[in-house]
Amino acid sequence: MVVPFASAALVTAEPGPQTATTPSAERIDFMANVPAPGAFPGKWICGSPSCMDNHDPPVQVHWYNEHTAFLRQNKAYSYEAPFMHLYFGNDRILMLDQGFTTLRTDWALRDVVDDCIGKWCLRHGRRVENMELLLAFSHLHSDHYAALNQFIDRPNTRCMGLTHEEMVGFWGMTNYPEERVALDLGGRNILIWGSPGHVISEFAYYDTSTQILYTGDMFYRGRCYISFWDKWFDSMTRLIDFADTHPVAHVVGCHVEISRTGEDYPYGVTYQPDEAPMQLTVAELRKAYEVAKTVTRPGIYFTGSVFLCNQTRGTTTSDTNPYAYS
Ligand SMILES: [Zn+2]
Repeated sequence: MVVPFASAALVTAEPGPQTATTPSAERIDFMANVPAPGAFPGKWICGSPSCMDNHDPPVQVHWYNEHTAFLRQNKAYSYEAPFMHLYFGNDRILMLDQGFTTLRTDWALRDVVDDCIGKWCLRHGRRVENMELLLAFSHLHSDHYAALNQFIDRPNTRCMGLTHEEMVGFWGMTNYPEERVALDLGGRNILIWGSPGHVISEFAYYDTSTQILYTGDMFYRGRCYISFWDKWFDSMTRLIDFADTHPVAHVVGCHVEISRTGEDYPYGVTYQPDEAPMQLTVAELRKAYEVAKTVTRPGIYFTGSVFLCNQTRGTTTSDTNPYAYS
């Protein structure tokens, strides 16, 4: 069922009891208390009326728990304001997504990440140079990998490539999107499988410690732009099947584009003063799946928590005649 990535040995068969055999007392037992508890902020930094007057940090760092950090790009630096993830294991660290701004002098994501890694190593008696950093992303859109280049010369670091073949190859997959692989961070497994539909090249990621399921731009609290409906529906079916057979604490996507009252924020805004939480429930995922079953044509469908934008990319619910460009 699972093919290891032979050249790098990143992934193995789906998790067995490896976490119970962690040999050294110094090693952290990430599976001792699952789901590892954590908390999201009550409110993320969400922009300002004028970007010129914005004094928030370029990257907001939120430690979900002591081994998991979520980062968010300041909306003044990119209206996309994508989220990024850091998962720490005994041997390596996985960073998912790298934001929407390229230049380190404009937006020093690498410095922020190095600071997080340094602090984690200090807290847990590790040497930074002994921790491998893996940089991967949810899908092949630049708001999810633009700052990858900042890490190219970083020691002990491996980066996912920017083609479909390199993405799939990074995880050693030979049967995308159905195949599910397990990345071992050192006593902490991340399960990964294909989740196309928004674009062709997209993954879902599940952290066995926090039991957080990351669905990228394929499913998030905002406008899920679905380019390939049939593939997206199949990906939703895979997510539902997964949730039927695995505990899922939260479903998280990469953006927030909706207010707490369900308002669809206009495309490109840099201020979302009353934005809804990033995390979603499994019940909200299931509700979206039920709504999706009724969709037979292009259009925008609200599920109560997300907008399913079936082949309507670039439009919002405020566009009264989105197809008339003349
Ligand atoms: Zn995106």
